[in-house]
Amino acid sequence: MVKMYYEADVKQEVLRGKTIAIIGYGSQGHAQAQNLRDSGYKVVVGLRPGKSWDVAVKDGFEVLTVAEATKRADVVQILMPDERQAQVYRDEVAPNLKSGAALCFSHGFNIHYAQILPPADVDVIMAAPKSPGHLVRRVYQEGFGVPGLIAIYQDATGNAKDLALAYSSGIGCTKAGVIETTFREETETDLFGEQAVLCGGASELVKAGFDTLVEAGYAPEIAYFECLHELKLIVDLMYEGGLARMRYSISDTAEYGDYSTGRRIITDETRKEMKKVLAEIQDGTFARNWILENQANRPGFTSRRRLEAEHGIEVVGEQLRGMMSWLNKETKKEEAKIGQ
Ligand code: NDP
Ligand code: MG
Ligand code: MG
Repeated sequence: MVKMYYEADVKQEVLRGKTIAIIGYGSQGHAQAQNLRDSGYKVVVGLRPGKSWDVAVKDGFEVLTVAEATKRADVVQILMPDERQAQVYRDEVAPNLKSGAALCFSHGFNIHYAQILPPADVDVIMAAPKSPGHLVRRVYQEGFGVPGLIAIYQDATGNAKDLALAYSSGIGCTKAGVIETTFREETETDLFGEQAVLCGGASELVKAGFDTLVEAGYAPEIAYFECLHELKLIVDLMYEGGLARMRYSISDTAEYGDYSTGRRIITDETRKEMKKVLAEIQDGTFARNWILENQANRPGFTSRRRLEAEHGIEVVGEQLRGMMSWLNKETKKEEAKIGQ
C-alpha cells in the first residue's frame, strides 16, 4: 500500500513566517495562492504584466515580476504551463533563487525530463492536488480539501518532506489525504493516463463510435447523444462508485453488452499498443517530441487542433448543446472562444 498523510502528520511551523511565491495565476495558481493565504501563510504572486497580473491584484495579492517574487521567497511554487516553465526558470527564477529555499511543482515533467536543473542547495519538492484548480479552491472554501500527492526530488535542508506536507495542508489536501510518490511515478503515470485513457483514448473512442453510426446512415444528432453526451452519465457513476456502481445502474442488457463486446473494442492489440505508449513515455521519446514541437512553434499541434475542430461530431455537437439550457453560460462562452 502507498503511504498516506493527513492533518496529524503536518508540522505547520516549517512554513509559518516564510514567504511563498506562486509563479503563475491560472487554474492552479489562483487556487493555491488563495488557499494558502486563507490558511494564514504569507503569499506573493510572480507574473509578467498582463491579464493574470490584473486578476491577482484584484484578488488582493502583492504581485511582482517573477524575478522579484523569487528573490523574496522561501518557497517558489512553479504554476505556469509546463511547456513554458523551463525558459522562465532559466531567465528569471534560477538567478534569483535563495540558497536553502524550496523549489516546488505540481507536476514533475520539467524536473523528470531534465528541462529544469536546480542547484544543489535548494529543496525540490512536489505538492500536487489531484484535481483542477477551480475544485481545489471550491472544496477548500467548503471547509475540506481535494486529495493530493507529494514527492521529494532533492532534500537539501533536511526539511523537504515536512515542507511538502505543510504546503499540502495549506492548500487543503491533507484534510482529504496525501499520497507520497516520486517525480518519476507522478510524471509517467500522468502522461500515460491522459494519452491512453482520459484524453487520447476517450476522444478517439467517441469519434470512432460516432463515425461508425454516421457512416452506416444514422442521424449525426442521434450518434452524438449515444457516443458523446451519454458518456458523462456513465463516467459520473464510475467516479461515484467504480465500475460496479455503473453496472448496477445501467440495464442488464447494457451490462451484458458491456461484458460481451468491451474486449472486442479494447483488444490485445490495443493493450500491446498501450505498453508501447508507456515505453515511449519512460524512455523520453514523448517528452522529446513535445519539447521539440514547442521549439518549432507547434506546427503539428496547431494543424491537428484545426482538423479536430472540423470533425462532424464537433459541428453537430455545437448545435445540440445550444438546446441544453442547463449547460452553464461560462462553458458556452469558453466554447465560443475555443471555436474562434
Ligand atoms: P495555466 O495554464 O492555468 O497557467 C497559466 C498562468 O501562467 C497564467 O497566470 C499565465 O499568465 C502564467 N504565465 C504563462 N507564461 C508566463 C510567463 N512567461 N511569465 C509569468 N507567468 C506566465 O496552468 P495550470 O494551472 O493548468 O498548470 C500549472 C501547473 O500545475 C502545471 O505544472 C500543471 O501540470 C499542474 N497541474 C495542473 C492541473 C490543472 O488542473 N490545471 C492539475 C494538477 C497539476 P498570463 O496571463 O500572463 O499568460
Ligand atoms: Mg497532465
Ligand atoms: Mg443507450
